[in-house]
Amino acid sequence: MIRLAVISGKGGTGKTVVTAALSFLLPSSVLLADCDVDAANLGLLLAPKRIRVEPFYGASVAVIDPDLCTRCGQCSEHCRFRAVDCEEAHYSISPIRCEGCGVCAYICPAGAIRMESRISGEICLSSTAVGHLAHGRLQPGAGNSGLLVHAVKKTALGQDQKKDIFLVDGPPGIGCPLISTLVGVDAILVVTEPSISGLHDLKRVVKVARKNSPRIAVAINRFDLEEAITDSIEQWCREEDIPMLGKIPFDPWITELVRNGKSVTCGDTSPAAKAIQALAVNLDRELKAL
Ligand code: SF4
Ligand code: SF4
Repeated sequence: MIRLAVISGKGGTGKTVVTAALSFLLPSSVLLADCDVDAANLGLLLAPKRIRVEPFYGASVAVIDPDLCTRCGQCSEHCRFRAVDCEEAHYSISPIRCEGCGVCAYICPAGAIRMESRISGEICLSSTAVGHLAHGRLQPGAGNSGLLVHAVKKTALGQDQKKDIFLVDGPPGIGCPLISTLVGVDAILVVTEPSISGLHDLKRVVKVARKNSPRIAVAINRFDLEEAITDSIEQWCREEDIPMLGKIPFDPWITELVRNGKSVTCGDTSPAAKAIQALAVNLDRELKAL
C-alpha cells in the first residue's frame, strides 16, 4: 500500500476537491482518511454512510474531590494556566482552562486531585463509493489535534490494509496535525494556488514535508487567475526539482459541483475536470515509479 497525503500549506486552495477527485480518478483501490480534524470536509463530497463513531480521549483534566480538599490553596498558587477557581474558599478546576499538566495533582498535600481523561472529539468511520473513510472531529477549543490525526489514520488502516493507496486529505498549515499526517507517508501532493501567500506557504510546507523524505509533487489550482505567480511557482518547483503534475484552471463548474456535494469523476468534461483527470494520470505515473 502506498501512503499518499494531499496537503496545501494553507486553507482554500482546493485540496479537498482534488483529494475527492483523485479517490475516483486514480486507477487503484483507495482507503481514505481526512486528517483535517478541525474542518473535515472530504466526506461532504463523497456521500459517506456512517459505520461507527467513537469518542476520542485527548489530554486529561484535573478534578478536585471536595471531601478531601483541605483548602490550602497550593493548587491555585502552582497552576500556571490559572485554571483553579476559588469561590468562598471552595476550590474547583475549570475544565476549559486546565491544560492537563498534572502539577496540581502532584503537589496537592491532601491527595484531593485526580486526573481524568476527557473526551476531546470523535473518530468516525464511514463507507463511500470508493472505499472506507475515517475522519475526526475535534471539539471546539480542544487540544491534541496531532493525536487525533494519528487515531484517524489508525482507524482507517485498521479497516483494510489491502488497498493500493492510502489517500489522506491533510490539514492546512504546518502545525501538529500536519506533522502527524506526514508520519509514514511515501508521497505528497501539494495543492497550491497562484497568490503571494500560496507561494509562501508552498515553500514552508515543502520544507516541513522534506524532513520525512517522501516523494513530493505539486499541482496548481486556479492557475489562470494570476499567471505571473503561476510562473514563479513553476520556476521555484524546477529549481527545487519538484515535479509539477497539474495545472487546474478556474472553473465555475467546480463551484457548482461542490455546492451539490459531488466530486469530479471520469466522465466529466469541464476544463477543470479534464485538468484534474490529467493530474490523476500524472500522479499515477509518479506513484508507480516509487
Ligand atoms: S492543593 Fe489540594 S488540598 Fe490544597 S486547595 Fe488544592 S485541592 Fe485542596
Ligand atoms: S493539571 Fe495543570 S493546568 Fe490543570 S489545573 Fe492542574 S496545574 Fe492547572
